[in-house]
Amino acid sequence: MRSMLWLFSLLFPVMTLAAAPAATGKHPIAIVIHGGAGTISRKDMTPERDKQYRAALKQALDAGYAVLKQGGKSLDAVQAAIRVMEDDPLFNAGKGAVFDHAGKNELDAAIMDGTNLKAGAVAGVQHIKNPIDLARLVMDKTPHVLLIGSGAEEFAKAQGMALVPQSYFFTQFRWDELQKALKDEKGKAGEAQHDYPGGGHGFGTVGAVALDKDGDIAAGTSTGGLTNKYYGRVGDSPIIGAGTYANTKTCGVSGTGTGEFFIRLDLAKTISDLMLYKGQSVQQAADQLVLHDLVDLGGTDTGGAIAMDHDGNIRMPFNTEGMYRGYIDTAGKQFVAIYKDE
Ligand code: ASP
Repeated sequence: MRSMLWLFSLLFPVMTLAAAPAATGKHPIAIVIHGGAGTISRKDMTPERDKQYRAALKQALDAGYAVLKQGGKSLDAVQAAIRVMEDDPLFNAGKGAVFDHAGKNELDAAIMDGTNLKAGAVAGVQHIKNPIDLARLVMDKTPHVLLIGSGAEEFAKAQGMALVPQSYFFTQFRWDELQKALKDEKGKAGEAQHDYPGGGHGFGTVGAVALDKDGDIAAGTSTGGLTNKYYGRVGDSPIIGAGTYANTKTCGVSGTGTGEFFIRLDLAKTISDLMLYKGQSVQQAADQLVLHDLVDLGGTDTGGAIAMDHDGNIRMPFNTEGMYRGYIDTAGKQFVAIYKDE
């Protein structure tokens, strides 16, 4: 039998190659990231801050791309890029996360493997320096997908992860943002919490999608959520299918914006579904969800997403004034941008 197979592959080398799984080890590599969408305009940005954001995006791209270039997996590349942004106080993830209504930092993150649809996520954690690393551990070491709050932190300890005090996440800028949001909602008629605050504030969620040498796609997202969020609120980022999704057959997606709308649209997976069941391109599908469905549901200024397909086609639509974003494509070209007109 074996010799027959050998003879077959000798006679029909192309056919057998075509029938082989995508994991050739020679697939073109690429990475795309975002650092949040929102009311980011040139007039509100100092040249200094503009430069800092671009440098930070570049550093995250380089960290992720280095993994891919060394032959590493897309999951590891996503994690490496996100970790850089979590550690950077410029972004609303890890250090520099926004504050909730009670003055705490509660972090959410998710990661997904597009080859087998395995995923891991954490929500509402308060003492995890790099929530993306904990999300990865949930995926790798438990039969579960999403762990929350103190349970997630118990699991982190059991895995030997050091916890950090809340003070680690503090930045004056985010604290001032909360004070402003609290002041703005004071004096509003009725129960302020029903007039949902936070939209438009606290942008800076981070995300990444990577494509590795085996043609495998992974996606991840990490965030502090929305400034002044209430009562253990969880956004779209750790909800698989809403703010984070990956399927190597279609694309990887990471979203950023007012999470409630992303959850209600199941935005990330719907992009994948349009490709899978309707044969749409990544461009058509991502634009449909972010520029049309999201706008129809919540209006403009609701967010954006990054998406990349199996061939490395990248789309980064947003309906806000700006989105911190960048990629290194399959040709090795690097691009970093902030505003709409770039
Ligand atoms: N999508 C995040 C959330 O709703 C926030 C953001 O992306 O700015 O938690």
